[in-house]
Amino acid sequence: MTHYPHMLEPLDLGFTTLKNRVLMGSMHTNLEERGDWNRVAEFFATRARGGVGLMVTGGIAPNAEGGVFAGAGGLYTDEDMANHRLVTDRVHDAGGKIAMQILHAGRYAYSPACVAPSPVKSPISPFPPNELDEEGIEKQIHDIAETARKAREAGYDGVEVMGSEGYFINQFLVTHTNKRTDRWGGSYENRMRLPIEVVKRVRKAVGEDFIVIYRLSMIDLVPNGSTHEEVVQLAQEIEKAGATIINTGIGWHEARVPTIATSVPRAGFAWVTKKLMGKVGIPIITSNRINHPDVAEEILSDGAADMVSLARPFLADPDFVAKAETGRADLIAPCIACNQACLDHTFSGKVSSCLVNPKAAFETELVVTPTDQRKKIAVVGAGPAGVSAALTAKERGHDVVLFDRADEVGGQLNMAKQVPGKEEFFGLVDWFAAMLDDRQVTLRLGEEATEENLQGFDEVIVATGVLPRDPQIDGQDHPKVLGYVDVLRHKAEVGKTVAVIGAGGIGFDMAEYLVTGESPTENLPEWLREWGVADPEQARGGLAPEGPQPDAPERHVTVFQRKAEKPGKRLGKTTGWIHRAALKMKQVEMKAGVNYERIDDDGLHISYGEARERPEVIACDHVILCAGQVSERSLADRLEKAGVSVHVIGGADVAAELDAKRAIDQGVRLAASL
Ligand code: NAP
Ligand code: SF4
Repeated sequence: MTHYPHMLEPLDLGFTTLKNRVLMGSMHTNLEERGDWNRVAEFFATRARGGVGLMVTGGIAPNAEGGVFAGAGGLYTDEDMANHRLVTDRVHDAGGKIAMQILHAGRYAYSPACVAPSPVKSPISPFPPNELDEEGIEKQIHDIAETARKAREAGYDGVEVMGSEGYFINQFLVTHTNKRTDRWGGSYENRMRLPIEVVKRVRKAVGEDFIVIYRLSMIDLVPNGSTHEEVVQLAQEIEKAGATIINTGIGWHEARVPTIATSVPRAGFAWVTKKLMGKVGIPIITSNRINHPDVAEEILSDGAADMVSLARPFLADPDFVAKAETGRADLIAPCIACNQACLDHTFSGKVSSCLVNPKAAFETELVVTPTDQRKKIAVVGAGPAGVSAALTAKERGHDVVLFDRADEVGGQLNMAKQVPGKEEFFGLVDWFAAMLDDRQVTLRLGEEATEENLQGFDEVIVATGVLPRDPQIDGQDHPKVLGYVDVLRHKAEVGKTVAVIGAGGIGFDMAEYLVTGESPTENLPEWLREWGVADPEQARGGLAPEGPQPDAPERHVTVFQRKAEKPGKRLGKTTGWIHRAALKMKQVEMKAGVNYERIDDDGLHISYGEARERPEVIACDHVILCAGQVSERSLADRLEKAGVSVHVIGGADVAAELDAKRAIDQGVRLAASL
């Protein structure tokens, strides 16, 4: 039986054939800027070996003014040429194909030298752009076409012209950013001139037998964005200008609608691409939140696109296609769309990696090799840290026994998955279970690890996780007080008015859990309504004129923190705004700079500031404690006392700001070294 017949069907482009319908979409990993091109080459070669049909590199700047930031990777010098050649050679040796993305950031460039059709500053950059004159526009087109020519010389199989996400080319298309009155602005014909000219000139520069992908913004999600009619018109012109494939872009970077976060439904924008199907003669790729072969197959068999683009899922698992081909999709490490180790890193200047797969972009550094000294290893705790350590140790050839007193693996993730919008955690826990089974790790669930049953092991890894912190608030033993574990794990009944103590990751998750009924992440029409996304055939840019229409909150929730700073400030760099906006839509109140005076029949008593001013009573049915965590080290301490040497990882090691990213990374790295 052929698994995934649509997804695995080759795509004949005339002059070349892609071996399947899966594109690895462009991701900026910050690797190119580190100058270690062997590492860049290995990153792509690893994914080529995993069977993906075509890959696109991170954005390469066509010139200094178009770089996303000063010093962004380009293809200017002989040295650059040799570096890119290293990548293309390694990919071709691995049997893959790779296109280079040409990204001109326009007014999104983080530099005072940035250029744009008009001097309209973007809300996400401090720099007002310099308006281009006719000569300046010609230079940009020339530089893009010249970069495409060099890409061919460097051995790439194609280029992707980045025409979406609100970057330079996209900025010409809409009146919000293009105020010009010359032949590059005004009517739509004029505003389309730049993208068309770019594609024509790129085609001319590279010849006929070279892939030219044009990434087209199919729903801008910004005011005064393109209409669907304009999108279709542009797509037809882009085809005429010589593009081989049209890829989908969803939303400008400044859009206030989540487009790739975990709370976005899977394949949540494939319907947008589908609207273009049949309107052009070249293949169309769809994108966003496609993270499982089942999802890809459904999109393709439904005729919503000719090909699917997955980006982050290839960080999580380079062998996505190979595993699907062999019918082992259950072994594909799932991208949970958290952004924690990829985009949050990219935007902090760090190398992107993956929460689920710390080897991503560290292929040359974090190498898991077979052991030459087989050991008996006990791992205690089947949360993310423990499972990762167990899997890696077993992969290396050690004998591994994994203990957990719970009856299931996953640890705290089993609570996280209860939160609306975090359903992807189910997949992660399932993947842990499938991998443990496949690697034949001995599982001893429902069993407490003790000094006695840990005897006889060469190494003991303690990954016992965390315990909720005791906030020591006067009256916290009142019946109206619950812990987050009571609610998320034991499903305690919660009243209609709730005070949440703690505005960290768990306080925010708790608030989301309490105000949300059915999860909109599981119901696409509902999710689109909640965020104000409309059919671009009906509403310009795909923004509903009536704005976001969330359901009424299930409960009235107030979230408290002692720090005077804005609650939620420390949440993920690229996702924090979504959590804050979601709770705001559900009328969750936030109070910062508070002191917890006591809890009694009247509710939660608070005051403000060091002087304990403005006393207030928050009447509520329940107070839920989400006041952080402390390490659960009791076993580790007992073992150490008994003279057993232990490795302590994950939350049991450091509870502060514990997250699955650090836990998994630590687990893999430790086991790689034993
Ligand atoms: P956290 O993020 O450290 O937040 C703890 C909260 O409790 C803070 O608001 C803190 O604010 C408050 N707090 C600390 N000590 C307190 C005390 N003695 N009395 C009362 N309040 C106290 O911890 P968390 O919310 O438990 O989350 C744990 C970790 O899980 C997070 O760091 C995060 O990495 C991970 N997580 C992540 C996500 C995500 O979306 N990425 C979601 C859930 C969990 P004040 O000290 O100012 O009061
Ligand atoms: Fe996906 Fe999170 Fe990994 Fe990024 S860090 S690739 S979003 S799982």
